[in-house]
Amino acid sequence: MEGKTFESKLPEGYKKALEIDAGTGKWAVIFNVIAIVVLVVVLAIAIPLAVIKNESVNIYQSPLALIIFLVSMLIYIVLHEIVHGICYKALTKQKLTFGLKLTCAYCGVPNIFTYRKTALISVLAPFVVFTLVFLPLVVWAYYFDSIYFILASILLGLHLGGCSGDLYVAYLLLFKFKAKTTLMNDTGPVMTLYIRED
Ligand SMILES: [Zn+2]
Repeated sequence: MEGKTFESKLPEGYKKALEIDAGTGKWAVIFNVIAIVVLVVVLAIAIPLAVIKNESVNIYQSPLALIIFLVSMLIYIVLHEIVHGICYKALTKQKLTFGLKLTCAYCGVPNIFTYRKTALISVLAPFVVFTLVFLPLVVWAYYFDSIYFILASILLGLHLGGCSGDLYVAYLLLFKFKAKTTLMNDTGPVMTLYIRED
């Protein structure tokens, strides 16, 4: 496997260790509940901070801010998946798949089995990139305007919560499946981990 980022076929001697379907069933519910909880926690911090500034917050007074927020959210969802895609493409040159379900947006590289390092980079990239974008944005918005601050905080909250599935898979790869030989098949919504049987 030295130097290889993926296998086209599951090699001999591997067994399926875990399957996570973020699109349907148990995991879809868990990841979405976590996403809502994270958003609530972020707002529970942001709203008092806005109140401390002693400005009234009424988002209905600022339709432009709302429109910018909604457009930013849609662009974010697309860019998040594109960042997954860029990493998978750069590391494997294989065919990608993109999609949107009610429960999740997704990007996968369905026809191959990527090694742990490739999987880890691709899974974590949007979390790292957009946390580095949204945190400064929230700080800037705090000093700019309370409405933008709240909306930027919602964006940050949706991002952090929306990464729950990515972060769980990253956690598994970092701490539970530490062997370099661990393989992951990522169809987008469904991520399946394979380990060597020995
Ligand atoms: Zn993601």
